[in-house]
Amino acid sequence: MAQVFRSTRVLTASGLRAATLVVEGERIVSVGGWDEVPAGSGLASGLTDFGDAVVLPGLVDSHVHINEPGRTEWEGFETATRAAAAGGVTMLVDMPLNCVPETIDVEALEAKRAAAQGKTWVDWAAWGGVIRGNAQELKALAGAGIPGLKCFLIHSGIDGFKWVGEADLRLALAELRGTGLPLLAHAEFAGPVEAATAELDRMGADWRSYGTYLRSRPDAAEVEAIGLLVRLAEEFQTPVHIVHLASAEALPMLEGAKQRGVPITVETCVQYLWFAAEEIPDGATEFKCAPPIRGRENREALWAGLEDGLIDLVATDHSPCPPEMKLREEGLWNRAWGGIASLGLALPVMNTALGKRGFALDEAMGRLGAWMAAGPAKLAGFEEQKGTLTPGADADFVVFDPEAAWTVKESDLHFRHKLSPYLGADLRGRVKETWLRGERIFSAGEWAEKPHGRELARR
Ligand SMILES: [Zn+2]
Repeated sequence: MAQVFRSTRVLTASGLRAATLVVEGERIVSVGGWDEVPAGSGLASGLTDFGDAVVLPGLVDSHVHINEPGRTEWEGFETATRAAAAGGVTMLVDMPLNCVPETIDVEALEAKRAAAQGKTWVDWAAWGGVIRGNAQELKALAGAGIPGLKCFLIHSGIDGFKWVGEADLRLALAELRGTGLPLLAHAEFAGPVEAATAELDRMGADWRSYGTYLRSRPDAAEVEAIGLLVRLAEEFQTPVHIVHLASAEALPMLEGAKQRGVPITVETCVQYLWFAAEEIPDGATEFKCAPPIRGRENREALWAGLEDGLIDLVATDHSPCPPEMKLREEGLWNRAWGGIASLGLALPVMNTALGKRGFALDEAMGRLGAWMAAGPAKLAGFEEQKGTLTPGADADFVVFDPEAAWTVKESDLHFRHKLSPYLGADLRGRVKETWLRGERIFSAGEWAEKPHGRELARR
């Protein structure tokens, strides 16, 4: 039996409008006008009317550290995907590090698949990893179904995930060329960071001060690394994706590259669009991430880049750790673990930000759908299946009340450790229900009986 859903505000391919979604099994089969309810699907046989609630495609978060297997005490499949479902996210793409083993060969990928069995509330995929010395593993990883590969151009914080230089990047791009899979890069160069840090230490800088941390990771580290990545993407004609762009100083170079047709895409994260360095208290290491949250002017320039299409998508880089690793008592930015926990909050945070910036609701929802559903789905190669309410796509959607006002409390955080810089934030917009492949997985604070998420492999 088909299921039929309708609302006066559905984000369709032609924008936010009154529409009806017809779903057969796990997929959308048609999107029609509000009163185009197929015969035989009266209230008794499966019409769900969401009234005036906004219906958006299920969000896709292409940058999440799930950390399982091996560091499940930091975060795991059960808790991460539960938080995702509550936040209207129906697909996560897991980063290849902070788990043990790191996802740098097929054996590790299989260990991850085994660890995820039966625990995921939403669908997921796993990025593979490029480290110094694993070039011979990359073809097999690609063949095993990963949607792309991630690397670091600076120490990753994890000794087992060795950062790469230009020679390794060339080997990886040669392996990826022609496959269509992207190379994702943490774009900071070590040189400027090491030089700035040494100078700060020589001056006896106070490492409790956020300004010290910010100065230790200068814009130049991002700009120089992105320069190399643009050059290589152009030379190899192979897609390169800049994860978590924090420095707006790189935008003119990226604009030039895109105009020349260089296959390069760019992501920024919710924290860079919401917070600003001027507002971060000293010692508040729950705000620590790398690259760092920069100043207000930079934030405005990132918004401009996003609105102009220079930045393709917004992800969370949800990267939690046990709270004690944040060293909240000493508050030393150079010693605390870097990574911000936020999974499940991205939709209301971005909705609030767009509202404050004066976006009308239809424009705001269209932008959210492009940046947080269609964009990340495309990066991972699942654009026909995920992140869109169109015939043939999975019946993944969020029922969202964009006007509801609320304040983030610990009980609203559904990931493992309840430490987040968003605690206390006043937000607008609340997820009422989340549907995954035609099944309601979250509704009014309750999850479905059992998790039914599955891995999506790219073949
Ligand atoms: Zn990350």
